Amino acid sequence: MGNQFNHEYDVIVVGAGIVGLAAALAFAKQELSVALIEAHKPSAQFPLLDEAIDAKVVAITRASENFFSYLGVWQDIKASRYSPYHHMCVWDSVMDGIIHFSAMDFFEDNLGYIIEQKVILAALLTGLQKQSSVHYFWGEYLADFSFQNGSQITLTNGTKLKAKLVIGADGAKSTLRKLCHIDSAYIDYQQVAIVATLQSEKSHTKTAYQRFAQDGPLALLPLSDENLSSLVWTTTPEKANELMQVTKNEFGLALTRECDAILGNLTLMSKPLMFPLSSHHAKSYVTEGCVLVGDAAHTIHPLAGLGVNLGLLDVATLVEMLALKSDTVQKRETHLKHYERQRKTHNQLMIWAMSAFKQGFGSQNALVAYLRNLGLGWVDKHFSLKQFFAKMAMGTLGPIPQCAKKNIQRTDSVKKNAII
Ligand SMILES: Cc1cc2nc3c(=O)[nH]c(=O)nc-3n(C[C@H](O)[C@H](O)[C@H](O)COP(=O)(O)OP(=O)(O)OC[C@H]3O[C@@H](n4cnc5c(N)ncnc54)[C@H](O)[C@@H]3O)c2cc1C
Repeated sequence: MGNQFNHEYDVIVVGAGIVGLAAALAFAKQELSVALIEAHKPSAQFPLLDEAIDAKVVAITRASENFFSYLGVWQDIKASRYSPYHHMCVWDSVMDGIIHFSAMDFFEDNLGYIIEQKVILAALLTGLQKQSSVHYFWGEYLADFSFQNGSQITLTNGTKLKAKLVIGADGAKSTLRKLCHIDSAYIDYQQVAIVATLQSEKSHTKTAYQRFAQDGPLALLPLSDENLSSLVWTTTPEKANELMQVTKNEFGLALTRECDAILGNLTLMSKPLMFPLSSHHAKSYVTEGCVLVGDAAHTIHPLAGLGVNLGLLDVATLVEMLALKSDTVQKRETHLKHYERQRKTHNQLMIWAMSAFKQGFGSQNALVAYLRNLGLGWVDKHFSLKQFFAKMAMGTLGPIPQCAKKNIQRTDSVKKNAII
C-alpha cells in the first residue's frame, strides 16, 4: 500500500495571520520545509496595498520591529505606510490626571510604530515568496489532527499532511486547540471596540493619545499623514450599537466630545468596524506534536496594543529554542516545554496587568477614581515608574529572545549610564 500522506514536511503552520506568516517565514529561513494552511484565499487574506488605509492597525513594539528586521521584512514595511510615534499622552476622563511620555526622555528615536495590518501582511507574504521551501494551502481548513510517529493533519478537502511539528496560529477560536483538547480560561470583557480611520482638525504631532473613561479606553493612534489617526474606541455593547446607527456627522461630534477635542474636530474617513472584546489563555501551549502561538494561545485587551506583539515574541522564542533539524524527539519535547513555561508566564503577567488597568480605570467608585488620579500624577513625576510603563509599551519588558533584541541592550545601557 502506498503512503497515505500526500505530503511530509518539517513544520505545518495553521493560519496565515501576522503570527502564522511570521512563523512560516522564520522556519523557512532555517531551511526547513513548511506547509502553510489558511482558510481564506489570498485575495481575501491580503487586501490590495492601494491608497485606501486599512482601518485595522496595530501598534508595533521595538521587540517586534527587531524580529521583523531579523525576518528581513522591516525594510518593506518602512518603504510602505507606517508611522513612528514619538509621544504618548494618557489621561483620565473623570479627574484631571495626565501622563506624558516622550521618546527623547528614554533616549529612544520613537516609542513604537502604528502600522496598518495589510501593510504587515503584504511584507510577510513578499518575504515568504522568496523562500522556495514553503508549500501553500490557501482556502483550506484544518479538519483533523492526530499524533502517531509524527504529527498528522487532515484538511476539509481530504488532503492528509504529516510533519515533525504542527504550529497552531489559527487565531482566538483555534480549531487546532480544540482538536488537541486544550482548555482555555475565558474572560468576556462585555466591551466592544469600534475601529475607524479619522481626519483631525489639528496635527497629531506623532502622539498616541489614550483617554480612560468609565466604559473603556479610547485611543487615537497617529498615522503617516499628520491629520489622520486611527480610532480604537472601547465602550459598552449598547453604546457601540447606538454609535453604529448614527450619521457620520453625529459620530464625529460624539467622538470629538468624548476625547475632549484634543485634536479639534474629528471626521470619520472609513466605515466604523466593531470587535467584541474578550480574553482567553490556553491552559497549555503544547501537546504531543503540536504547539500554539499568538491568539490561538492567548488574547489580551487591546488597551496596550500588545496582542500581536506577544504573538511575535512566541514565534521568536520558539524559533530560537527549537532545532528541528538536529533535535531528537525527546530533546524537542524538552524545548517545547521550556517554550511553554517562558511564554506562558510572560503572557499571563501581561493579561493580568491589562485586566488590572481595565478594572482600575473602569471603576466608578469615587475613591478609586481619586487614587487613579493621584497615581497618574505620581507616575508622571517619577522617571523610573515612567520608564517601566514606557518599556511595557515598547515591548522590552520580560524575556526577549536574541532575534528580537537588536538595539535593546544597547539603549538600556545608554539609559543606565545617563541616569547614573
Ligand atoms: C480592536 C483591536 C485592536 C488591536 N490593536 C492591537 C495593537 O495595537 N497591537 C497589537 O499588538 N495587537 C492588537 N490587537 C490584537 C491583534 O489584532 C491580534 O493579536 C492579532 O491579529 C492576532 O494574530 P494571529 O495571527 O495570532 O491570529 P489571526 O489574525 O486571528 O489569524 C488567524 C488566521 O488563521 C486562519 N484560520 C482560522 N482557523 C483556521 C482553520 N481551521 N484552518 C485554516 N486556517 C484557519 C484565519 O483565517 C486567520 O487568517 C488588536 C485587536 C483588536 C480586536
